[in-house]
Amino acid sequence: MSHHLSLDPASRPRPRFLDGAPKQLFIGGEWRPAGSGQTLTTIDPMTEQVITSIASADAADVDLAVAAARRAFESDEWSAITPYQRGLYLSQIADVIEANADELATLDSLDMGGPFALTRWMVGNAIETYRHYAGWPTKIYGQTAPSAPGQFNYVVRQPLGVTVAITPWNGPFLQMSWKVAPALATGNTVVAKPAQQTSLSALRFAELLAQTDLPRGVFNIITGEGGVAGEALIQHPDVNKVSFTGSTAVGKHLLAASAVNVKRLTLELGGKSPTIVFADADLPAAAKAAAGDFLNGSGQSCVAGTRIFVEEPVREEFSALLAEEMATYVTGDPFHPDTVIGPLASRAHYDRVVSYFDVARDAGATITTGGVEDPDGGLFVAPTLVENVTNDARIAQEEVFGPVAVLIPFNGVDEVVRMSNDSIYGLASYVWTRDLSQAHTVAARLEAGSVFINSTAQMSSGILPFGGFKQSGIGREHGTDVIDAFTETKTVVVNL
Ligand code: NAP
Ligand code: MG
Repeated sequence: MSHHLSLDPASRPRPRFLDGAPKQLFIGGEWRPAGSGQTLTTIDPMTEQVITSIASADAADVDLAVAAARRAFESDEWSAITPYQRGLYLSQIADVIEANADELATLDSLDMGGPFALTRWMVGNAIETYRHYAGWPTKIYGQTAPSAPGQFNYVVRQPLGVTVAITPWNGPFLQMSWKVAPALATGNTVVAKPAQQTSLSALRFAELLAQTDLPRGVFNIITGEGGVAGEALIQHPDVNKVSFTGSTAVGKHLLAASAVNVKRLTLELGGKSPTIVFADADLPAAAKAAAGDFLNGSGQSCVAGTRIFVEEPVREEFSALLAEEMATYVTGDPFHPDTVIGPLASRAHYDRVVSYFDVARDAGATITTGGVEDPDGGLFVAPTLVENVTNDARIAQEEVFGPVAVLIPFNGVDEVVRMSNDSIYGLASYVWTRDLSQAHTVAARLEAGSVFINSTAQMSSGILPFGGFKQSGIGREHGTDVIDAFTETKTVVVNL
Protein backbone atom coordinates (compact mmCIF):
# COMPACT_ATOMS: atom_id res chain seq x y z
CA MET A 1 0.00 0.00 0.00
CA SER A 2 1.30 3.35 -1.02
CA HIS A 3 1.50 6.02 1.70
CA HIS A 4 0.32 8.80 -0.57
CA LEU A 5 -2.75 9.36 -2.72
CA SER A 6 -2.03 7.82 -6.09
CA LEU A 7 -3.69 7.69 -9.48
CA ASP A 8 -3.62 5.27 -12.40
CA PRO A 9 -0.44 6.14 -14.37
CA ALA A 10 -2.47 5.75 -17.58
CA SER A 11 -4.61 8.72 -16.54
CA ARG A 12 -1.61 11.08 -16.29
CA PRO A 13 -2.38 14.23 -18.31
CA ARG A 14 -0.26 14.81 -21.39
CA PRO A 15 -1.02 18.13 -23.12
CA ARG A 16 -0.51 17.94 -26.91
CA PHE A 17 2.10 20.69 -26.54
CA LEU A 18 4.46 18.03 -25.17
CA ASP A 19 4.52 16.13 -28.45
CA GLY A 20 7.39 17.02 -30.74
CA ALA A 21 10.53 17.21 -28.66
CA PRO A 22 12.84 18.86 -28.09
CA LYS A 23 11.30 22.20 -27.24
CA GLN A 24 13.17 25.08 -28.84
CA LEU A 25 14.25 28.61 -27.96
CA PHE A 26 11.91 31.51 -28.75
CA ILE A 27 13.94 34.33 -30.27
CA GLY A 28 12.56 37.26 -32.26
CA GLY A 29 9.25 35.47 -32.67
CA GLU A 30 10.87 32.36 -34.21
CA TRP A 31 11.48 28.90 -32.75
CA ARG A 32 15.04 27.66 -33.12
CA PRO A 33 17.21 24.98 -31.53
CA ALA A 34 20.25 25.89 -29.46
CA GLY A 35 23.12 26.68 -31.85
CA SER A 36 25.14 23.87 -30.26
CA GLY A 37 22.25 21.41 -30.69
CA GLN A 38 22.46 20.64 -26.94
CA THR A 39 19.32 19.69 -25.01
CA LEU A 40 18.33 18.95 -21.42
CA THR A 41 15.57 16.69 -20.15
CA THR A 42 12.86 17.82 -17.76
CA ILE A 43 11.49 15.37 -15.20
CA ASP A 44 8.04 14.78 -13.68
CA PRO A 45 8.86 14.53 -9.94
CA MET A 46 5.79 12.32 -9.30
CA THR A 47 7.04 9.53 -11.57
CA GLU A 48 10.67 10.63 -11.92
CA GLN A 49 10.23 9.96 -15.63
CA VAL A 50 11.35 12.29 -18.41
CA ILE A 51 8.51 14.53 -19.65
CA THR A 52 10.33 15.96 -22.65
CA SER A 53 13.53 17.75 -23.54
CA ILE A 54 14.32 21.43 -23.96
CA ALA A 55 17.07 23.39 -25.70
CA SER A 56 20.20 24.10 -23.67
CA ALA A 57 21.33 27.55 -24.77
CA ASP A 58 24.82 29.01 -24.55
CA ALA A 59 26.32 32.48 -24.95
CA ALA A 60 25.86 32.52 -28.75
CA ASP A 61 22.11 31.90 -28.39
CA VAL A 62 21.93 34.55 -25.67
CA ASP A 63 23.58 37.06 -28.04
CA LEU A 64 20.85 36.38 -30.61
CA ALA A 65 18.05 36.75 -28.05
CA VAL A 66 19.44 40.00 -26.62
CA ALA A 67 19.91 41.38 -30.14
CA ALA A 68 16.30 40.46 -31.03
CA ALA A 69 15.06 42.14 -27.84
CA ARG A 70 17.15 45.24 -28.63
CA ARG A 71 15.78 45.47 -32.21
CA ALA A 72 12.23 45.13 -30.88
CA PHE A 73 12.89 47.79 -28.25
CA GLU A 74 14.07 50.22 -30.92
CA SER A 75 11.31 49.39 -33.43
CA ASP A 76 8.47 51.83 -34.00
CA GLU A 77 5.95 49.03 -33.55
CA TRP A 78 6.93 48.84 -29.86
CA SER A 79 8.45 52.24 -28.99
CA ALA A 80 6.18 54.52 -31.06
CA ILE A 81 2.77 53.24 -29.94
CA THR A 82 0.23 54.85 -27.66
CA PRO A 83 0.11 53.90 -23.97
CA TYR A 84 -3.40 52.62 -24.65
CA GLN A 85 -2.09 50.24 -27.32
CA ARG A 86 0.53 48.89 -24.91
CA GLY A 87 -2.21 48.24 -22.37
CA LEU A 88 -4.25 46.42 -25.01
CA TYR A 89 -1.38 44.00 -25.66
CA LEU A 90 -1.30 43.15 -21.95
CA SER A 91 -5.06 42.61 -21.94
CA GLN A 92 -4.75 40.26 -24.91
CA ILE A 93 -2.04 38.32 -23.06
CA ALA A 94 -4.32 37.98 -20.00
CA ASP A 95 -7.16 36.72 -22.21
CA VAL A 96 -5.05 34.09 -23.93
CA ILE A 97 -3.68 32.84 -20.58
CA GLU A 98 -7.23 32.63 -19.22
CA ALA A 99 -8.40 30.60 -22.23
CA ASN A 100 -5.54 28.13 -21.67
CA ALA A 101 -5.25 28.31 -17.88
CA ASP A 102 -5.85 24.62 -17.17
CA GLU A 103 -3.17 23.56 -19.64
CA LEU A 104 -0.60 26.01 -18.26
CA ALA A 105 -1.32 24.81 -14.71
CA THR A 106 -1.11 21.18 -15.85
CA LEU A 107 2.33 21.83 -17.32
CA ASP A 108 3.54 23.39 -14.05
CA SER A 109 2.11 20.49 -11.99
CA LEU A 110 3.77 17.92 -14.26
CA ASP A 111 7.05 19.80 -14.21
CA MET A 112 7.42 20.64 -10.50
CA GLY A 113 4.90 18.46 -8.65
CA GLY A 114 2.69 21.19 -7.19
CA PRO A 115 -0.93 20.11 -6.60
CA PHE A 116 -3.09 21.16 -9.55
CA ALA A 117 -5.29 23.33 -7.29
CA LEU A 118 -2.17 25.29 -6.35
CA THR A 119 -0.72 25.68 -9.86
CA ARG A 120 -4.16 26.61 -11.20
CA TRP A 121 -4.44 29.23 -8.47
CA MET A 122 -1.02 30.56 -9.50
CA VAL A 123 -2.11 30.85 -13.14
CA GLY A 124 -5.18 32.74 -11.89
CA ASN A 125 -2.87 35.12 -10.04
CA ALA A 126 -0.89 35.57 -13.28
CA ILE A 127 -4.06 36.49 -15.20
CA GLU A 128 -4.91 39.07 -12.54
CA THR A 129 -1.33 40.35 -12.69
CA TYR A 130 -1.44 40.95 -16.48
CA ARG A 131 -4.81 42.71 -16.12
CA HIS A 132 -3.43 44.87 -13.32
CA TYR A 133 -0.46 45.96 -15.45
CA ALA A 134 -2.67 46.43 -18.53
CA GLY A 135 -4.00 49.48 -16.69
CA TRP A 136 -0.59 50.99 -15.94
CA PRO A 137 0.70 52.32 -19.31
CA THR A 138 -2.03 54.98 -19.36
CA LYS A 139 -1.28 56.03 -15.78
CA ILE A 140 2.49 56.50 -15.55
CA TYR A 141 2.71 60.26 -14.96
CA GLY A 142 5.83 62.39 -14.70
CA GLN A 143 6.13 65.63 -12.72
CA THR A 144 6.48 69.28 -13.50
CA ALA A 145 9.21 70.58 -11.22
CA PRO A 146 9.17 73.91 -9.39
CA SER A 147 11.03 76.09 -11.92
CA ALA A 148 12.90 79.39 -11.70
CA PRO A 149 11.45 82.30 -13.70
CA GLY A 150 12.34 81.80 -17.36
CA GLN A 151 12.61 78.03 -16.96
CA PHE A 152 10.28 75.10 -17.42
CA ASN A 153 11.58 71.93 -15.79
CA TYR A 154 9.98 68.51 -15.78
CA VAL A 155 10.64 64.89 -14.91
CA VAL A 156 9.59 61.89 -17.01
CA ARG A 157 9.96 58.13 -16.65
CA GLN A 158 11.27 56.14 -19.60
CA PRO A 159 11.79 52.42 -20.21
CA LEU A 160 15.19 50.87 -19.49
CA GLY A 161 15.56 48.81 -22.66
CA VAL A 162 16.31 45.08 -22.71
CA THR A 163 15.36 43.41 -19.43
CA VAL A 164 15.99 39.83 -18.30
CA ALA A 165 13.63 37.76 -16.13
CA ILE A 166 15.32 34.85 -14.32
CA THR A 167 12.93 32.68 -12.30
CA PRO A 168 13.01 29.64 -9.99
CA TRP A 169 11.11 26.35 -10.18
CA ASN A 170 8.73 26.70 -7.24
CA GLY A 171 6.09 28.89 -8.93
CA PRO A 172 7.14 28.85 -12.55
CA PHE A 173 4.31 30.60 -14.37
CA LEU A 174 3.50 33.02 -11.55
CA GLN A 175 7.08 34.17 -10.99
CA MET A 176 7.62 34.84 -14.69
CA SER A 177 4.37 36.83 -14.95
CA TRP A 178 5.35 39.07 -12.02
CA LYS A 179 8.36 40.20 -14.06
CA VAL A 180 7.11 40.14 -17.65
CA ALA A 181 3.86 42.07 -17.04
CA PRO A 182 5.45 45.16 -15.42
CA ALA A 183 8.43 45.06 -17.82
CA LEU A 184 6.09 45.25 -20.83
CA ALA A 185 3.74 47.78 -19.20
CA THR A 186 6.68 50.18 -18.84
CA GLY A 187 7.76 49.71 -22.48
CA ASN A 188 10.75 47.41 -22.06
CA THR A 189 11.47 44.21 -23.95
CA VAL A 190 12.20 40.90 -22.21
CA VAL A 191 14.41 37.85 -22.42
CA ALA A 192 13.03 35.27 -19.96
CA LYS A 193 15.16 32.45 -18.53
CA PRO A 194 12.98 30.00 -16.60
CA ALA A 195 14.51 27.40 -14.27
CA GLN A 196 15.75 24.38 -16.21
CA GLN A 197 13.48 22.00 -14.24
CA THR A 198 10.36 24.05 -15.09
CA SER A 199 10.55 25.74 -18.48
CA LEU A 200 7.47 24.18 -20.07
CA SER A 201 4.74 26.67 -19.07
CA ALA A 202 6.92 29.57 -20.26
CA LEU A 203 7.46 27.86 -23.62
CA ARG A 204 3.73 27.19 -24.04
CA PHE A 205 3.08 30.84 -23.12
CA ALA A 206 5.42 31.92 -25.94
CA GLU A 207 3.44 29.76 -28.38
CA LEU A 208 0.19 31.31 -27.19
CA LEU A 209 1.53 34.82 -27.86
CA ALA A 210 0.99 34.09 -31.57
CA GLN A 211 -2.71 34.60 -30.78
CA THR A 212 -2.00 38.18 -29.64
CA ASP A 213 -0.73 41.23 -31.56
CA LEU A 214 2.39 41.60 -29.40
CA PRO A 215 5.21 42.55 -31.83
CA ARG A 216 7.86 39.89 -32.48
CA GLY A 217 10.98 40.12 -30.36
CA VAL A 218 9.31 41.96 -27.48
CA PHE A 219 9.30 38.68 -25.53
CA ASN A 220 11.96 35.98 -25.97
CA ILE A 221 12.84 32.78 -24.11
CA ILE A 222 16.24 31.27 -23.45
CA THR A 223 16.17 27.84 -21.81
CA GLY A 224 19.13 25.98 -20.40
CA GLU A 225 21.44 25.81 -17.44
CA GLY A 226 21.66 28.69 -15.00
CA GLY A 227 25.45 28.54 -14.95
CA VAL A 228 25.67 28.76 -18.77
CA ALA A 229 22.59 30.43 -20.30
CA GLY A 230 21.74 32.43 -17.17
CA GLU A 231 25.36 33.41 -16.68
CA ALA A 232 25.62 34.69 -20.29
CA LEU A 233 22.53 36.85 -19.69
CA ILE A 234 23.76 38.42 -16.47
CA GLN A 235 27.20 39.14 -18.00
CA HIS A 236 25.76 40.55 -21.23
CA PRO A 237 26.78 44.19 -21.83
CA ASP A 238 23.60 45.00 -23.76
CA VAL A 239 21.18 43.91 -21.01
CA ASN A 240 19.92 46.93 -19.04
CA LYS A 241 18.23 45.16 -16.14
CA VAL A 242 17.88 41.76 -14.52
CA SER A 243 14.89 40.91 -12.38
CA PHE A 244 15.85 37.74 -10.51
CA THR A 245 13.96 35.43 -8.18
CA GLY A 246 15.94 32.58 -6.67
CA SER A 247 18.49 31.70 -4.04
CA THR A 248 20.49 34.20 -2.02
CA ALA A 249 23.73 32.54 -3.21
CA VAL A 250 22.99 33.13 -6.91
CA GLY A 251 21.59 36.59 -6.07
CA LYS A 252 24.91 37.60 -4.52
CA HIS A 253 26.77 36.37 -7.60
CA LEU A 254 24.42 38.38 -9.81
CA LEU A 255 25.03 41.49 -7.75
CA ALA A 256 28.76 41.18 -8.48
CA ALA A 257 28.23 40.31 -12.16
CA SER A 258 25.94 43.30 -12.70
CA ALA A 259 28.95 45.59 -12.24
CA VAL A 260 30.09 44.80 -15.79
CA ASN A 261 27.75 47.47 -17.20
CA VAL A 262 26.04 48.69 -14.00
CA LYS A 263 22.85 46.73 -14.69
CA ARG A 264 19.74 47.64 -12.77
CA LEU A 265 18.74 44.78 -10.48
CA THR A 266 15.74 43.50 -8.62
CA LEU A 267 16.51 40.53 -6.37
CA GLU A 268 13.85 38.37 -4.71
CA LEU A 269 15.81 35.86 -2.64
CA GLY A 270 15.35 33.40 0.20
CA GLY A 271 13.58 33.57 3.53
CA LYS A 272 13.20 32.04 6.98
CA SER A 273 10.09 33.86 8.03
CA PRO A 274 8.76 34.03 11.60
CA THR A 275 5.22 33.24 12.67
CA ILE A 276 4.60 34.88 16.07
CA VAL A 277 1.72 33.58 18.17
CA PHE A 278 0.91 35.65 21.27
CA ALA A 279 -1.00 34.09 24.16
CA ASP A 280 -4.09 36.22 23.46
CA ALA A 281 -4.39 35.07 19.82
CA ASP A 282 -7.29 33.15 18.31
CA LEU A 283 -5.31 29.93 18.69
CA PRO A 284 -7.30 27.62 16.38
CA ALA A 285 -7.15 30.24 13.60
CA ALA A 286 -3.44 30.81 14.26
CA ALA A 287 -2.69 27.07 14.19
CA LYS A 288 -4.58 26.58 10.92
CA ALA A 289 -2.77 29.49 9.30
CA ALA A 290 0.64 28.60 10.74
CA ALA A 291 0.36 25.09 9.26
CA GLY A 292 -0.57 26.42 5.82
CA ASP A 293 2.09 29.10 5.90
CA PHE A 294 4.90 26.55 6.14
CA LEU A 295 3.29 23.61 4.33
CA ASN A 296 1.67 25.10 1.25
CA GLY A 297 3.63 24.24 -1.87
CA SER A 298 5.29 21.45 0.16
CA GLY A 299 7.16 24.26 1.93
CA GLN A 300 8.88 25.20 -1.33
CA SER A 301 7.82 28.78 -0.86
CA CYS A 302 9.99 31.83 -0.30
CA VAL A 303 7.51 33.29 2.23
CA ALA A 304 7.13 30.04 4.21
CA GLY A 305 6.65 30.71 7.93
CA THR A 306 9.25 28.18 9.04
CA ARG A 307 10.12 29.61 12.45
CA ILE A 308 7.04 29.42 14.65
CA PHE A 309 7.38 31.35 17.91
CA VAL A 310 4.68 30.67 20.50
CA GLU A 311 4.25 32.51 23.80
CA GLU A 312 5.09 30.16 26.67
CA PRO A 313 1.69 30.10 28.49
CA VAL A 314 -0.08 28.70 25.39
CA ARG A 315 2.74 26.51 24.07
CA GLU A 316 1.11 23.18 24.86
CA GLU A 317 -2.35 24.16 23.70
CA PHE A 318 -0.99 25.63 20.45
CA SER A 319 1.30 22.62 19.77
CA ALA A 320 -1.65 20.28 20.00
CA LEU A 321 -3.74 22.42 17.64
CA LEU A 322 -0.84 22.69 15.18
CA ALA A 323 -0.31 18.91 15.20
CA GLU A 324 -4.02 18.43 14.39
CA GLU A 325 -3.77 20.83 11.47
CA MET A 326 -0.57 19.27 10.14
CA ALA A 327 -2.28 15.87 10.10
CA THR A 328 -4.72 17.16 7.47
CA TYR A 329 -1.90 17.81 4.96
CA VAL A 330 -2.24 14.70 2.85
CA THR A 331 0.56 13.90 0.41
CA GLY A 332 -0.23 12.60 -3.03
CA ASP A 333 -0.26 12.81 -6.79
CA PRO A 334 -0.55 16.47 -7.85
CA PHE A 335 -3.58 15.55 -9.97
CA HIS A 336 -5.47 13.74 -7.16
CA PRO A 337 -8.22 16.14 -6.03
CA ASP A 338 -7.54 15.47 -2.32
CA THR A 339 -3.79 16.05 -2.48
CA VAL A 340 -2.53 18.95 -0.39
CA ILE A 341 1.21 18.23 -0.60
CA GLY A 342 2.80 16.99 -3.81
CA PRO A 343 6.26 15.51 -4.26
CA LEU A 344 9.24 17.85 -3.93
CA ALA A 345 10.41 19.28 -7.23
CA SER A 346 13.45 17.08 -7.87
CA ARG A 347 15.48 14.21 -6.43
CA ALA A 348 18.41 16.54 -5.71
CA HIS A 349 16.14 18.92 -3.81
CA TYR A 350 14.52 16.02 -1.90
CA ASP A 351 17.96 14.77 -0.80
CA ARG A 352 18.85 18.25 0.43
CA VAL A 353 15.58 18.63 2.39
CA VAL A 354 15.77 15.25 4.13
CA SER A 355 19.43 15.89 5.02
CA TYR A 356 18.09 18.53 7.41
CA PHE A 357 16.53 15.84 9.61
CA ASP A 358 20.04 14.93 10.75
CA VAL A 359 21.03 18.58 10.97
CA ALA A 360 18.18 19.00 13.46
CA ARG A 361 18.92 15.81 15.43
CA ASP A 362 22.66 16.53 15.56
CA ALA A 363 21.86 19.84 17.27
CA GLY A 364 19.95 17.92 19.96
CA ALA A 365 16.52 18.94 18.66
CA THR A 366 13.47 16.65 18.73
CA ILE A 367 11.47 15.96 15.59
CA THR A 368 7.97 15.70 17.04
CA THR A 369 6.09 15.16 13.76
CA GLY A 370 7.35 13.79 10.44
CA GLY A 371 11.09 13.66 9.91
CA VAL A 372 11.04 10.42 7.94
CA GLU A 373 12.06 9.63 4.39
CA ASP A 374 9.41 8.63 1.87
CA PRO A 375 8.59 4.95 2.67
CA ASP A 376 7.76 4.42 -1.02
CA GLY A 377 11.11 5.77 -2.20
CA GLY A 378 9.46 8.73 -3.90
CA LEU A 379 9.98 12.44 -3.38
CA PHE A 380 7.35 13.00 -0.68
CA VAL A 381 8.23 14.63 2.62
CA ALA A 382 5.60 14.52 5.36
CA PRO A 383 4.91 17.69 7.38
CA THR A 384 7.76 17.95 9.84
CA LEU A 385 7.97 19.89 13.11
CA VAL A 386 11.19 20.37 15.07
CA GLU A 387 11.09 21.25 18.79
CA ASN A 388 13.57 21.62 21.68
CA VAL A 389 15.70 23.82 19.51
CA THR A 390 17.12 27.33 19.83
CA ASN A 391 16.91 30.06 17.21
CA ASP A 392 20.66 29.95 16.57
CA ALA A 393 20.65 26.28 15.45
CA ARG A 394 21.24 25.65 11.73
CA ILE A 395 17.76 24.17 11.36
CA ALA A 396 16.35 27.49 12.64
CA GLN A 397 18.64 29.69 10.53
CA GLU A 398 18.99 27.99 7.12
CA GLU A 399 16.30 27.91 4.46
CA VAL A 400 15.24 24.24 4.05
CA PHE A 401 12.66 24.93 1.31
CA GLY A 402 10.62 21.88 2.32
CA PRO A 403 7.70 21.19 4.71
CA VAL A 404 9.82 21.65 7.83
CA ALA A 405 9.37 24.21 10.63
CA VAL A 406 10.82 24.81 14.08
CA LEU A 407 8.60 25.59 17.06
CA ILE A 408 10.25 27.82 19.67
CA PRO A 409 8.60 29.20 22.83
CA PHE A 410 9.12 32.82 23.91
CA ASN A 411 8.47 35.06 26.90
CA GLY A 412 7.42 38.60 26.10
CA VAL A 413 7.46 40.88 23.09
CA ASP A 414 11.11 41.99 23.28
CA GLU A 415 12.38 38.43 23.20
CA VAL A 416 10.28 37.43 20.22
CA VAL A 417 11.15 40.54 18.22
CA ARG A 418 14.85 39.94 18.88
CA MET A 419 14.63 36.27 17.81
CA SER A 420 12.51 37.08 14.77
CA ASN A 421 15.04 39.62 13.55
CA ASP A 422 17.98 37.35 14.35
CA SER A 423 18.21 36.01 10.80
CA ILE A 424 20.09 36.95 7.63
CA TYR A 425 16.69 37.00 5.92
CA GLY A 426 13.77 39.41 6.12
CA LEU A 427 11.10 38.42 3.62
CA ALA A 428 7.75 37.77 5.32
CA SER A 429 6.43 37.62 8.89
CA TYR A 430 3.17 36.61 10.53
CA VAL A 431 1.76 38.02 13.76
CA TRP A 432 -1.16 36.53 15.70
CA THR A 433 -2.70 38.61 18.52
CA ARG A 434 -6.05 40.15 19.41
CA ASP A 435 -4.27 43.22 20.80
CA LEU A 436 -4.31 45.72 17.96
CA SER A 437 -1.70 48.05 19.41
CA GLN A 438 0.62 45.11 20.05
CA ALA A 439 0.11 43.98 16.43
CA HIS A 440 1.11 47.35 14.96
CA THR A 441 3.98 47.87 17.41
CA VAL A 442 5.46 44.49 16.52
CA ALA A 443 4.86 45.12 12.78
CA ALA A 444 6.92 48.31 13.07
CA ARG A 445 9.81 46.48 14.76
CA LEU A 446 10.03 43.43 12.45
CA GLU A 447 12.75 43.44 9.79
CA ALA A 448 10.60 41.98 7.03
CA GLY A 449 9.27 43.11 3.67
CA SER A 450 5.75 41.91 4.49
CA VAL A 451 3.92 41.59 7.81
CA PHE A 452 0.72 39.56 7.80
CA ILE A 453 -1.38 40.31 10.90
CA ASN A 454 -3.95 37.65 11.79
CA SER A 455 -3.64 36.58 8.15
CA THR A 456 -2.07 33.87 6.05
CA ALA A 457 0.36 34.89 3.31
CA GLN A 458 -1.36 36.87 0.58
CA MET A 459 0.48 36.81 -2.70
CA SER A 460 0.26 40.11 -4.55
CA SER A 461 -1.11 40.27 -8.07
CA GLY A 462 -0.02 43.85 -8.61
CA ILE A 463 -1.33 46.06 -5.84
CA LEU A 464 0.85 45.26 -2.83
CA PRO A 465 4.64 45.67 -3.05
CA PHE A 466 6.55 42.44 -2.41
CA GLY A 467 10.20 41.89 -1.52
CA GLY A 468 12.67 41.53 1.28
CA PHE A 469 14.82 43.25 3.87
CA LYS A 470 18.45 42.23 4.38
CA GLN A 471 19.61 39.16 2.38
CA SER A 472 16.07 38.44 1.17
CA GLY A 473 16.67 40.84 -1.67
CA ILE A 474 16.87 44.28 -3.19
CA GLY A 475 13.91 46.27 -4.50
CA ARG A 476 10.26 45.31 -4.70
CA GLU A 477 7.98 43.69 -7.22
CA HIS A 478 4.47 45.16 -7.63
CA GLY A 479 3.07 48.35 -6.13
CA THR A 480 4.33 51.63 -7.51
CA ASP A 481 7.88 50.46 -6.68
CA VAL A 482 7.99 48.11 -9.65
CA ILE A 483 7.11 50.90 -12.08
CA ASP A 484 10.10 52.84 -10.78
CA ALA A 485 12.24 49.70 -10.93
CA PHE A 486 11.52 49.17 -14.65
CA THR A 487 12.05 52.82 -15.66
CA GLU A 488 14.74 55.52 -15.62
CA THR A 489 13.96 58.99 -14.30
CA LYS A 490 14.82 61.76 -16.76
CA THR A 491 15.04 65.40 -15.68
CA VAL A 492 14.50 67.96 -18.43
CA VAL A 493 15.57 71.58 -17.86
CA VAL A 494 14.35 74.16 -20.39
CA ASN A 495 15.36 77.80 -20.57
CA LEU A 496 12.39 79.55 -22.13
P1 NAP B 1 18.52 29.28 -7.88
O1 NAP B 1 19.37 28.10 -7.94
O2 NAP B 1 19.08 30.56 -7.43
O3 NAP B 1 17.92 29.44 -9.36
C1 NAP B 1 17.07 30.48 -9.71
C2 NAP B 1 17.26 30.80 -11.17
O4 NAP B 1 18.58 31.29 -11.40
C3 NAP B 1 17.10 29.60 -12.09
O5 NAP B 1 16.50 30.01 -13.30
C4 NAP B 1 18.54 29.20 -12.32
O6 NAP B 1 18.70 28.47 -13.49
C5 NAP B 1 19.20 30.55 -12.42
N1 NAP B 1 20.63 30.55 -12.21
C6 NAP B 1 21.40 29.67 -11.52
N2 NAP B 1 22.70 30.02 -11.58
C7 NAP B 1 22.76 31.14 -12.33
C8 NAP B 1 23.83 31.99 -12.76
N3 NAP B 1 25.11 31.76 -12.45
N4 NAP B 1 23.53 33.07 -13.51
C9 NAP B 1 22.26 33.34 -13.84
N5 NAP B 1 21.21 32.57 -13.49
C10 NAP B 1 21.46 31.49 -12.73
O7 NAP B 1 17.25 29.08 -6.97
P2 NAP B 1 16.33 27.79 -6.89
O8 NAP B 1 17.00 26.82 -6.01
O9 NAP B 1 15.92 27.39 -8.24
O10 NAP B 1 15.03 28.39 -6.18
C11 NAP B 1 14.83 28.35 -4.82
C12 NAP B 1 15.21 29.68 -4.19
O11 NAP B 1 14.42 30.73 -4.71
C13 NAP B 1 14.95 29.70 -2.71
O12 NAP B 1 16.05 30.26 -2.03
C14 NAP B 1 13.73 30.61 -2.56
O13 NAP B 1 13.61 31.23 -1.32
C15 NAP B 1 13.94 31.55 -3.67
N6 NAP B 1 12.66 32.18 -4.02
C16 NAP B 1 12.47 33.48 -3.69
C17 NAP B 1 11.27 34.09 -3.97
C18 NAP B 1 11.04 35.53 -3.62
O14 NAP B 1 10.15 36.12 -4.20
N7 NAP B 1 11.79 36.14 -2.73
C19 NAP B 1 10.26 33.38 -4.61
C20 NAP B 1 10.48 32.05 -4.91
C21 NAP B 1 11.69 31.46 -4.62
P3 NAP B 1 18.70 26.83 -13.43
O15 NAP B 1 17.61 26.41 -12.55
O16 NAP B 1 18.46 26.48 -14.85
O17 NAP B 1 20.03 26.45 -12.91
MG1 MG C 1 10.58 19.28 -14.27
